[in-house]
Amino acid sequence: PTVEKIKEKGELVMLTNAAFPPFEYVDGSEITGVDVEIAQAIADELGVKLSVTNMDFDPIIDYIKTGKGDLGIAGITANEEREKAVDFSTSYITTTQYMILPTGVDGATFDPNGKIIGVQQGTTGDNYYASDPEVMQPKEVKRYKSAVDAAADMALGRVDCVIIDEMPAKAIVANNPDKMQAYDPGYDKESYSIAMMKGNDSLKQVVDSVLQKLADEGKIEEMIVKHTSN
Ligand code: GLN
Repeated sequence: PTVEKIKEKGELVMLTNAAFPPFEYVDGSEITGVDVEIAQAIADELGVKLSVTNMDFDPIIDYIKTGKGDLGIAGITANEEREKAVDFSTSYITTTQYMILPTGVDGATFDPNGKIIGVQQGTTGDNYYASDPEVMQPKEVKRYKSAVDAAADMALGRVDCVIIDEMPAKAIVANNPDKMQAYDPGYDKESYSIAMMKGNDSLKQVVDSVLQKLADEGKIEEMIVKHTSN
């Protein structure tokens, strides 16, 4: 929906997967996180209320493509494949994929070949790494609805390693420090952007200007610190 339509309905609908701290997570009965605060700033700029829909990560791009929500904000890595379906805002975070490994395993010598790798279904950790035979040839790739679920299975010994974004990996490990550790395998950088319906230029303009303002004021850094210490 265009800015005009969003203002008419008085509501901005954000689609996310709230199992991805510090970007989106459930706190009590509330969905909060960096992405939720960014969405709130966009809703404020539009003068409408924010509505957050918590869903699986994998179909978010398709939902945005078909207009079942205004903004996909879920730590989404912008890439060419996804750009065929949606438009992306300017990037608001640069990060990379990490490994979550059981404590006692040496990350530097860990070889994912022949191992069981856990990922969140449809993420870049799945598509670029675990499921790309040119990068690794695991015995099995187990796909979960969230990295939190994948890591929980690793703690039970059902998975050898989880590949997921750096900050969620660190957050998950911080909650289970005696069972797991976060390791940086040195993979490529990825940039997070907000997904919108193709051709929705009025909305993209508002989104990009709010992101610019938040970055200029150091607000995104502040949000990361706030939601990381939670
Ligand atoms: N950045 C990753 C991707 O876009 C993971 C996002 C997520 O799990 N919420 O695929």
